[in-house]
Amino acid sequence: DGIFLQENPLENPPIDIIKRGRSALVEYFSSLENEEKMPINEVKVLLVGYGGAGKTSLVKRLVDDKFNEHESQTPGISITNWNVTEKDKDIKINLWDFGGQEIMHATHQFFLSKRSLYILVLDGRKDEKTEYWLKHIESLGGDSPIFVVLNKIDENPGFEVNRKFLQDKYPSISDFYPISCKDNEGINILFSDLKKELVNIKHIETTWPKSWFNVKNKLENMTQHFISYNNYKQICNEEGITENTAQTTLIDFLNDLGIALNFKDFDLKDTHVLEPKWITSAVYKIINSKKLANCNGVLDLKFIESILQNKDEDDYYYPAEKYTFIINLMKRFELCYSIGTEKILVPDLL
Ligand code: GDP
Ligand code: MG
Repeated sequence: DGIFLQENPLENPPIDIIKRGRSALVEYFSSLENEEKMPINEVKVLLVGYGGAGKTSLVKRLVDDKFNEHESQTPGISITNWNVTEKDKDIKINLWDFGGQEIMHATHQFFLSKRSLYILVLDGRKDEKTEYWLKHIESLGGDSPIFVVLNKIDENPGFEVNRKFLQDKYPSISDFYPISCKDNEGINILFSDLKKELVNIKHIETTWPKSWFNVKNKLENMTQHFISYNNYKQICNEEGITENTAQTTLIDFLNDLGIALNFKDFDLKDTHVLEPKWITSAVYKIINSKKLANCNGVLDLKFIESILQNKDEDDYYYPAEKYTFIINLMKRFELCYSIGTEKILVPDLL
């Protein structure tokens, strides 16, 4: 027998809980009974595209209405918190701006989340491999809407893509926006459509009990770069979130909001990454290591320790028990492959 839910924004359970059936729902509502509830009103927005396309320039235009002719390359990942108001709702946006070097595209995949919004920035002057990005977004982003931005129309007013073809093939594309970050052209339309689309993202209305926000705040304020699954459970327990279903539903949300990176795969479950650069730096170190180059891309795992060792004072720390997580994550995204039990093959990513 089915469960019927009426549209009621104040008692809008996460879809994952609905899918888990009646007992999960009963649990969810009983956990809410005595607690104050609030809508999430937060969403992750990801800017993707080749280096130099204008991702950082667009962030600056949207957030500060500024433009810099000599914008410097974004190192790794830069996250900007941005608050916008639409229809009396205050929406907290986490803008994820990715650095441009080719080698980094590999690690950016870790962060392509569901329940988000994507802005694909294309540069009018270049022959863009638009579909390369769209395929990536489609495979990892679920049904997150995609805005396709055609930037630098001041330099190339005729820049166009095959809109109909792309929209038919990638139904998540919500629209195309010819803009110029330099001349501030097309930005207003983009901004107002962005706000409209964000309000429509399903999870924004989902209500969380106060305890869920407490866990989120705790994780956001932690200085550790990663925590174990058990540590996460402990934090949940401290806040009275003791049910397994609730804990997994919450961590799924936190992943999609960009608060804690985590994967459901059995061999990745154990670690939740709180600092994105902690994991991307490890992968760069391995991919860029001299040892790897000297061995034609076949690396003996016994070298991982020396590769990940702190060399500078502000290098991240990688305890030995995290080596497996790092290697397994690379395997999951096909950045390396096992050769026997002692070696990995790292294909040339450039
Ligand atoms: P990102 O690597 O994708 O973050 O690209 P940036 O935002 O760093 O921009 C790369 C370069 O293009 C910078 O020198 C910007 O000043 C320039 N740029 C960005 N947007 C525009 C635009 O609309 N018109 C022109 N002419 N230049 C732009
Ligand atoms: Mg940039």
